[in-house]
Amino acid sequence: MAPRNGYTGEGGSSVISRDLSHGSVESGESLQPVQPTADVPPEEIPDPEFLGIDTSSPHRCHHEMRPARKVAFVYAATGRRFLGCPLSGPDRCSWFMWIDEAWGPVLSRSLIQLWDQALLDYGRAARLQTKKKEMEQAYLELWTERSNMEIENQQVVNKLKTIILHTEIKMSRRLEFHTKMCVAFISSAVTLASVLAYVLSAH
Ligand SMILES: [Zn+2]
Repeated sequence: MAPRNGYTGEGGSSVISRDLSHGSVESGESLQPVQPTADVPPEEIPDPEFLGIDTSSPHRCHHEMRPARKVAFVYAATGRRFLGCPLSGPDRCSWFMWIDEAWGPVLSRSLIQLWDQALLDYGRAARLQTKKKEMEQAYLELWTERSNMEIENQQVVNKLKTIILHTEIKMSRRLEFHTKMCVAFISSAVTLASVLAYVLSAH
């Protein structure tokens, strides 16, 4: 496109990506930009060559304020200069006036196609982003579950180790007791036998 009044369109792509990023990816709400009508001023982008208050304009907005120079950024109106309310956001009134005539049919169709394509790509990117977030959430849940299972597993192992240790201690004590009993029994038997032998040999 030939430069128009010194406007080369530089930086346009970054403006597109920035403007489109306003759409809500999370809620999946419609990305369709509002088409300008007689009562709805077009969406706009800042343009270094056409900005500020138009002090020479005889027109006034609904606020009775001097209009601001703006450049439209929506579908076939993309790049058309207009005058609009100098306020922004919800304070902005609906008054506006085109400066540039509507683009010819060929350029209009191309612009519409570009917008459709950009919105389609953005919609795809948004869906992929949602999918990615879902997968990240699922991964986090799985990871948490695995960690919990590892902790539970460790607790069971520790409990088993404690039980085994206690059993070993009990068994060794019991064994020690039995051994002592056996030794005591054998020594008393031996004593008894020698007493018996002595008694028998005395007769
Ligand atoms: Zn106004």
